[in-house]
Amino acid sequence: MTDSGKVASDTPSGGGPLVVLEKVNKYFGDLHVLQDIDLTVHRGEVVVVIGPSGGGKSTLCRSINRLEPIDDGKILVDGEALPAEGKQLARHRADVGMVFQSFNLFAHKTILQNVTLGPIKVRKVAKSTADKEALELLERVGIANQAEKYPAQLSGGQQQRAAIARALAMRPKVMLFDEPTSALDPEMVKEVLDVMTSLAGEGMTMIVVTHEMGFARRAANKVIFMADGQIVEENTPDEFFTNPRTDRAKDFLSKIL
Ligand code: ADP
Ligand code: MG
Repeated sequence: MTDSGKVASDTPSGGGPLVVLEKVNKYFGDLHVLQDIDLTVHRGEVVVVIGPSGGGKSTLCRSINRLEPIDDGKILVDGEALPAEGKQLARHRADVGMVFQSFNLFAHKTILQNVTLGPIKVRKVAKSTADKEALELLERVGIANQAEKYPAQLSGGQQQRAAIARALAMRPKVMLFDEPTSALDPEMVKEVLDVMTSLAGEGMTMIVVTHEMGFARRAANKVIFMADGQIVEENTPDEFFTNPRTDRAKDFLSKIL
Protein backbone atom coordinates (compact mmCIF):
# COMPACT_ATOMS: atom_id res chain seq x y z
CA MET A 1 0.00 0.00 0.00
CA THR A 2 1.18 3.50 -0.74
CA ASP A 3 0.63 6.38 1.64
CA SER A 4 -2.49 7.37 -0.24
CA GLY A 5 -3.86 3.88 0.21
CA LYS A 6 -3.77 3.20 -3.51
CA VAL A 7 -2.34 -0.03 -4.77
CA ALA A 8 -0.19 0.49 -7.83
CA SER A 9 -1.17 -1.95 -10.52
CA ASP A 10 2.22 -2.32 -12.18
CA THR A 11 4.18 -3.50 -9.17
CA PRO A 12 3.94 -6.86 -7.46
CA SER A 13 3.75 -5.48 -3.95
CA GLY A 14 1.99 -2.26 -4.81
CA GLY A 15 4.74 -0.27 -3.14
CA GLY A 16 5.35 3.45 -3.32
CA PRO A 17 8.43 5.00 -4.86
CA LEU A 18 11.69 3.82 -3.28
CA VAL A 19 14.34 5.12 -5.68
CA VAL A 20 13.60 8.32 -7.55
CA LEU A 21 15.89 10.05 -10.03
CA GLU A 22 14.88 13.49 -11.25
CA LYS A 23 16.63 15.18 -14.16
CA VAL A 24 19.94 13.58 -13.28
CA ASN A 25 22.88 14.81 -15.32
CA LYS A 26 26.47 13.74 -15.19
CA TYR A 27 29.54 14.52 -17.26
CA PHE A 28 32.95 12.92 -17.58
CA GLY A 29 34.75 15.93 -19.00
CA ASP A 30 32.95 16.66 -22.27
CA LEU A 31 31.09 13.37 -22.25
CA HIS A 32 27.47 13.84 -21.15
CA VAL A 33 27.16 10.38 -19.70
CA LEU A 34 23.78 10.75 -17.95
CA GLN A 35 21.33 13.05 -19.71
CA ASP A 36 18.22 14.21 -17.90
CA ILE A 37 17.57 10.81 -16.39
CA ASP A 38 14.14 10.44 -14.80
CA LEU A 39 13.44 7.10 -13.19
CA THR A 40 11.16 5.83 -10.46
CA VAL A 41 11.60 2.40 -8.92
CA HIS A 42 8.77 1.31 -6.65
CA ARG A 43 9.09 -0.86 -3.60
CA GLY A 44 9.19 -4.50 -4.59
CA GLU A 45 9.76 -3.70 -8.24
CA VAL A 46 12.43 -5.32 -10.42
CA VAL A 47 13.76 -2.93 -13.05
CA VAL A 48 16.05 -4.40 -15.67
CA VAL A 49 18.38 -2.00 -17.47
CA ILE A 50 19.43 -3.07 -20.95
CA GLY A 51 21.51 -1.36 -23.58
CA PRO A 52 24.72 -1.17 -25.58
CA SER A 53 28.11 -0.92 -23.95
CA GLY A 54 29.10 2.63 -23.06
CA GLY A 55 25.49 3.78 -22.72
CA GLY A 56 25.84 4.83 -19.09
CA LYS A 57 24.31 1.84 -17.27
CA SER A 58 27.17 1.37 -14.82
CA THR A 59 27.42 5.09 -14.21
CA LEU A 60 23.72 5.11 -13.42
CA CYS A 61 24.18 2.35 -10.82
CA ARG A 62 27.25 3.98 -9.37
CA SER A 63 25.43 7.28 -9.04
CA ILE A 64 22.57 5.68 -7.13
CA ASN A 65 25.10 4.20 -4.73
CA ARG A 66 26.97 7.52 -4.63
CA LEU A 67 30.17 5.92 -5.89
CA GLU A 68 29.96 8.67 -8.51
CA PRO A 69 28.80 12.19 -7.75
CA ILE A 70 26.22 13.65 -10.12
CA ASP A 71 26.49 17.14 -11.57
CA ASP A 72 22.85 18.06 -11.57
CA GLY A 73 19.45 16.72 -10.58
CA LYS A 74 18.20 14.72 -7.65
CA ILE A 75 18.45 11.14 -6.43
CA LEU A 76 16.18 10.08 -3.57
CA VAL A 77 16.29 6.74 -1.81
CA ASP A 78 13.30 6.14 0.43
CA GLY A 79 12.53 9.83 0.32
CA GLU A 80 15.98 10.98 1.35
CA ALA A 81 18.42 12.84 -0.87
CA LEU A 82 21.89 11.43 -1.18
CA PRO A 83 24.18 12.80 1.48
CA ALA A 84 27.46 14.24 0.23
CA GLU A 85 29.82 12.25 2.44
CA GLY A 86 30.65 11.12 5.97
CA LYS A 87 28.67 8.83 8.27
CA GLN A 88 25.40 9.63 6.57
CA LEU A 89 26.86 8.40 3.32
CA ALA A 90 27.95 5.10 4.86
CA ARG A 91 24.38 4.63 6.07
CA HIS A 92 23.01 5.47 2.67
CA ARG A 93 25.34 2.98 1.03
CA ALA A 94 24.05 0.37 3.46
CA ASP A 95 20.53 1.05 2.15
CA VAL A 96 21.68 0.39 -1.40
CA GLY A 97 23.29 -3.00 -1.85
CA MET A 98 25.51 -3.38 -4.86
CA VAL A 99 26.77 -6.42 -6.72
CA PHE A 100 29.38 -5.92 -9.43
CA GLN A 101 30.46 -7.96 -12.40
CA SER A 102 33.83 -8.62 -10.75
CA PHE A 103 32.55 -9.93 -7.36
CA ASN A 104 34.87 -7.54 -5.43
CA LEU A 105 35.25 -9.82 -2.42
CA PHE A 106 38.11 -9.18 0.02
CA ALA A 107 40.69 -11.76 -1.02
CA HIS A 108 42.33 -12.10 2.40
CA LYS A 109 39.14 -12.65 4.33
CA THR A 110 37.05 -15.78 4.50
CA ILE A 111 33.62 -15.84 2.91
CA LEU A 112 32.07 -15.54 6.37
CA GLN A 113 34.29 -12.56 7.22
CA ASN A 114 33.42 -10.94 3.92
CA VAL A 115 29.75 -11.12 4.85
CA THR A 116 30.11 -10.03 8.51
CA LEU A 117 32.50 -7.11 7.97
CA GLY A 118 29.86 -4.55 6.98
CA PRO A 119 27.32 -5.46 9.66
CA ILE A 120 30.01 -5.32 12.37
CA LYS A 121 31.60 -2.08 11.15
CA VAL A 122 28.63 -0.10 9.87
CA ARG A 123 25.58 -1.62 11.52
CA LYS A 124 27.48 -2.15 14.81
CA VAL A 125 26.14 -5.68 15.16
CA ALA A 126 27.86 -7.97 17.71
CA LYS A 127 30.17 -10.51 16.06
CA SER A 128 28.16 -13.51 17.29
CA THR A 129 24.96 -12.05 15.84
CA ALA A 130 26.71 -11.08 12.61
CA ASP A 131 28.10 -14.63 12.26
CA LYS A 132 24.68 -16.15 12.77
CA GLU A 133 23.00 -13.81 10.28
CA ALA A 134 25.78 -14.34 7.77
CA LEU A 135 25.45 -18.11 7.94
CA GLU A 136 21.72 -17.81 7.36
CA LEU A 137 22.37 -15.66 4.30
CA LEU A 138 25.04 -18.03 2.98
CA GLU A 139 22.51 -20.82 3.46
CA ARG A 140 19.99 -18.83 1.48
CA VAL A 141 22.37 -18.43 -1.47
CA GLY A 142 23.41 -22.07 -1.18
CA ILE A 143 27.03 -21.80 -0.01
CA ALA A 144 26.92 -22.15 3.78
CA ASN A 145 29.43 -25.00 3.45
CA GLN A 146 31.96 -22.57 1.93
CA ALA A 147 31.90 -20.11 4.86
CA GLU A 148 35.45 -20.77 6.07
CA LYS A 149 37.05 -20.72 2.64
CA TYR A 150 38.75 -17.79 0.92
CA PRO A 151 37.30 -16.28 -2.26
CA ALA A 152 39.97 -17.77 -4.54
CA GLN A 153 38.95 -21.25 -3.38
CA LEU A 154 35.42 -20.76 -4.73
CA SER A 155 34.07 -20.91 -8.26
CA GLY A 156 32.98 -17.67 -9.90
CA GLY A 157 29.33 -18.52 -9.35
CA GLN A 158 29.94 -19.22 -5.68
CA GLN A 159 31.90 -15.98 -5.29
CA GLN A 160 29.11 -14.00 -6.86
CA ARG A 161 26.58 -15.64 -4.55
CA ALA A 162 28.85 -14.70 -1.63
CA ALA A 163 28.88 -11.13 -2.92
CA ILE A 164 25.08 -11.16 -2.97
CA ALA A 165 25.01 -12.48 0.62
CA ARG A 166 27.46 -9.77 1.63
CA ALA A 167 25.27 -7.06 0.15
CA LEU A 168 22.14 -8.52 1.77
CA ALA A 169 23.85 -8.58 5.18
CA MET A 170 23.55 -4.81 5.25
CA ARG A 171 19.77 -5.17 5.02
CA PRO A 172 19.53 -2.93 1.99
CA LYS A 173 16.27 -1.39 0.88
CA VAL A 174 17.24 -1.86 -2.75
CA MET A 175 19.78 -4.06 -4.53
CA LEU A 176 21.71 -2.92 -7.59
CA PHE A 177 23.22 -5.57 -9.82
CA ASP A 178 25.64 -4.42 -12.51
CA GLU A 179 26.08 -7.25 -15.00
CA PRO A 180 26.38 -9.80 -12.19
CA THR A 181 26.78 -12.76 -14.52
CA SER A 182 28.92 -11.26 -17.27
CA ALA A 183 32.22 -12.52 -15.84
CA LEU A 184 30.93 -16.04 -15.18
CA ASP A 185 31.46 -19.22 -17.10
CA PRO A 186 28.17 -20.15 -18.79
CA GLU A 187 27.44 -23.09 -16.50
CA MET A 188 27.50 -20.78 -13.48
CA VAL A 189 25.15 -18.13 -14.78
CA LYS A 190 22.02 -20.00 -13.79
CA GLU A 191 22.94 -20.49 -10.13
CA VAL A 192 23.37 -16.72 -9.75
CA LEU A 193 20.23 -15.85 -11.69
CA ASP A 194 18.29 -18.36 -9.58
CA VAL A 195 19.35 -16.54 -6.41
CA MET A 196 18.32 -13.23 -7.97
CA THR A 197 15.01 -14.66 -9.10
CA SER A 198 14.22 -15.91 -5.61
CA LEU A 199 15.18 -12.53 -4.13
CA ALA A 200 12.80 -10.87 -6.54
CA GLY A 201 10.11 -13.36 -5.54
CA GLU A 202 10.62 -12.41 -1.90
CA GLY A 203 9.81 -8.82 -2.77
CA MET A 204 13.28 -7.27 -2.88
CA THR A 205 13.43 -4.05 -4.84
CA MET A 206 16.04 -4.55 -7.54
CA ILE A 207 17.74 -2.64 -10.33
CA VAL A 208 19.52 -5.10 -12.59
CA VAL A 209 21.82 -4.28 -15.49
CA THR A 210 22.07 -7.45 -17.52
CA HIS A 211 22.35 -8.99 -20.95
CA GLU A 212 20.43 -12.05 -19.74
CA MET A 213 17.26 -11.54 -21.72
CA GLY A 214 15.60 -14.66 -20.32
CA PHE A 215 15.98 -13.29 -16.82
CA ALA A 216 14.72 -9.89 -17.94
CA ARG A 217 11.59 -11.41 -19.45
CA ARG A 218 10.90 -13.58 -16.43
CA ALA A 219 11.76 -11.31 -13.55
CA ALA A 220 11.38 -7.71 -14.68
CA ASN A 221 8.37 -5.58 -13.93
CA LYS A 222 9.86 -2.88 -16.11
CA VAL A 223 12.60 -2.72 -18.73
CA ILE A 224 14.68 0.40 -19.22
CA PHE A 225 16.57 0.63 -22.49
CA MET A 226 19.51 2.95 -22.11
CA ALA A 227 21.81 4.23 -24.85
CA ASP A 228 24.09 7.24 -25.25
CA GLY A 229 23.36 8.49 -21.75
CA GLN A 230 19.60 8.52 -22.19
CA ILE A 231 16.66 6.38 -21.26
CA VAL A 232 15.49 5.69 -24.79
CA GLU A 233 12.59 3.44 -23.87
CA GLU A 234 10.79 2.34 -20.71
CA ASN A 235 8.45 -0.55 -21.26
CA THR A 236 6.97 -3.74 -19.89
CA PRO A 237 9.18 -6.75 -20.61
CA ASP A 238 6.51 -8.33 -22.82
CA GLU A 239 6.14 -5.23 -24.96
CA PHE A 240 9.84 -4.49 -25.01
CA PHE A 241 10.82 -7.88 -26.34
CA THR A 242 7.94 -8.44 -28.74
CA ASN A 243 7.13 -4.94 -29.87
CA PRO A 244 9.71 -2.34 -28.88
CA ARG A 245 8.57 1.22 -29.48
CA THR A 246 11.87 2.76 -30.57
CA ASP A 247 14.07 2.02 -33.57
CA ARG A 248 17.11 2.14 -31.32
CA ALA A 249 15.75 -0.69 -29.17
CA LYS A 250 14.65 -2.67 -32.24
CA ASP A 251 18.13 -2.37 -33.68
CA PHE A 252 19.76 -3.44 -30.41
CA LEU A 253 17.44 -6.42 -29.98
CA SER A 254 17.98 -7.55 -33.55
CA LYS A 255 21.68 -7.81 -32.82
CA ILE A 256 21.45 -9.79 -29.60
CA LEU A 257 18.37 -12.00 -29.95
P1 ADP B 1 27.85 1.00 -19.65
O1 ADP B 1 27.86 0.46 -18.25
O2 ADP B 1 26.48 1.17 -20.22
O3 ADP B 1 28.72 0.21 -20.57
P2 ADP B 1 29.36 3.18 -18.50
O4 ADP B 1 28.47 3.86 -17.53
O5 ADP B 1 30.39 2.26 -17.96
O6 ADP B 1 28.46 2.47 -19.61
O7 ADP B 1 30.11 4.26 -19.36
C1 ADP B 1 29.45 5.30 -20.05
C2 ADP B 1 30.47 6.17 -20.74
O8 ADP B 1 31.22 6.87 -19.75
C3 ADP B 1 31.49 5.42 -21.57
O9 ADP B 1 31.76 6.20 -22.71
C4 ADP B 1 32.69 5.32 -20.67
O10 ADP B 1 33.87 5.24 -21.42
C5 ADP B 1 32.60 6.61 -19.89
N1 ADP B 1 33.17 6.49 -18.54
C6 ADP B 1 32.80 5.63 -17.58
N2 ADP B 1 33.48 5.83 -16.44
C7 ADP B 1 34.33 6.86 -16.69
C8 ADP B 1 35.30 7.55 -15.90
N3 ADP B 1 35.52 7.23 -14.63
N4 ADP B 1 35.97 8.57 -16.50
C9 ADP B 1 35.73 8.91 -17.78
N5 ADP B 1 34.82 8.31 -18.57
C10 ADP B 1 34.12 7.30 -18.04
MG1 MG C 1 28.68 -1.27 -17.48
